[in-house]
Amino acid sequence: MSGARKVHIKSFGCQMNVYDSHRMADTLAPEGFAETATPEDADLVILNTCHIREKAAEKVYSELGRVRALKQAAARDGRRIVVAVAGCVAQAEGREILRRAPSVDLVVGPQSYHRLPALLARVERGEAVIDTEFPVEDKFDILKAPSREATRARGVSAFVTVQEGCDKFCTFCIVPYTRGAEVSRPVAKIVAEVEHLADAGVREVTLIGQNVNAYHGEGPDGSPWTLGRLLERIADVRGIGRLRYTTSHPCDVEASLIAAHRDLPSLMPHLHLPVQSGSDRILVAMNRRHGRADYLDAIARMRGARADMAFSSDFIVGFPGESEQDFRATLSLLDEVGYAGAFSFKYSARPGTPAAEMADQVPEEVKSERLQRLQAAIDRRQAAFNARSLHRSFDILFEKAGRRPGQIVGRSPYLQAVVVTAPSTAIGDIRSVTITEIRTNSLFGALNATPVRAREPMPAEAGG
Ligand code: SF4
Repeated sequence: MSGARKVHIKSFGCQMNVYDSHRMADTLAPEGFAETATPEDADLVILNTCHIREKAAEKVYSELGRVRALKQAAARDGRRIVVAVAGCVAQAEGREILRRAPSVDLVVGPQSYHRLPALLARVERGEAVIDTEFPVEDKFDILKAPSREATRARGVSAFVTVQEGCDKFCTFCIVPYTRGAEVSRPVAKIVAEVEHLADAGVREVTLIGQNVNAYHGEGPDGSPWTLGRLLERIADVRGIGRLRYTTSHPCDVEASLIAAHRDLPSLMPHLHLPVQSGSDRILVAMNRRHGRADYLDAIARMRGARADMAFSSDFIVGFPGESEQDFRATLSLLDEVGYAGAFSFKYSARPGTPAAEMADQVPEEVKSERLQRLQAAIDRRQAAFNARSLHRSFDILFEKAGRRPGQIVGRSPYLQAVVVTAPSTAIGDIRSVTITEIRTNSLFGALNATPVRAREPMPAEAGG
């Protein structure tokens, strides 16, 4: 490969993968690779895979079938497409990918992205390359920062990885095996990255990590800083109007994080705090390290610091051994917390995890029936939460043009999509909006003449 080259990166799964895809593109840019949205005209196709969802590996192999057809068509035109598989499936499957999909040239695990230029040079020399090591060097030191242009093109809201890996070992989860042990980036490097983003026009930063509130990176004073302290420092960066973080674990909701929600107006009052189940018996079987009461206590402490805190969660239904009584405990937790929204999934076994070996797997039809009931309850909760926004005013960060001409779309503090009629010059602004209409997937509103900087909280009672 030589001259101007194009890379197409397809991301599956969570925000960590979206962030990783951006950093891979940034690392390849100095090598002469420009990003392309279509694989057809790419010289390099990277599938950045996720292992969380059911049959993840199978989905990657079927996607690779499509890429192989592209590769063959390009070869007939005398062009070479290099195919790389990255992400958690790459880490989990390793050499198996090259065996089952010989059109793949490179398999690269999440800890080795900084080595991409060197790995691609080996591919160019004709090698099939696998790198799924956990290297000793810090990949964040070597990964390239995005250019101003790339940052601008990605919009006014950006992710910043502050922590990777997980030491919790929930019995259903593959992450501790694919992403490795918890590692936190130093405060100074994170602040420098946020300043760079702010300088390029980013207004909202979401700090991300598999277990983000277990953050313990080295502070400028040499001591480990908590996530709460890090948020306090980043809130000082000029130009950053909004802060979020995800994904959190209930065991790591500690005092400085609660204080940050109390003290930092730019820290949004919305927290994704996965609980997975409302049953203590199942929480033990999942090795979640907390009970239902601990979870409710974390929610209560947050709401004690900021009354308008809204919560979302992930739920797994049909975990091995889950009885109807256990499932009802999940439904009752939903009522007790009053979530603004939630994601729910049927349990599916991940090879290599303890839960995959557990006896008492729940039949598929029982899982499906419970999932339907849970989703209906979540939908009712979400609709009730949204209904309470009607005629209220919120600060909205406008992110992009809407579907209809003259419309722009932004996010409320509670992550609701809000559509208004306004000029596109307002994209990137945080403006006060009164909500005038509630629809299923978005809220509609009108710009207020004067900015509302004072908080107008959502009532704490969820209703519905
Ligand atoms: S805390 Fe989250 S990432 Fe860690 S093992 Fe449990 S589910 Fe997986």
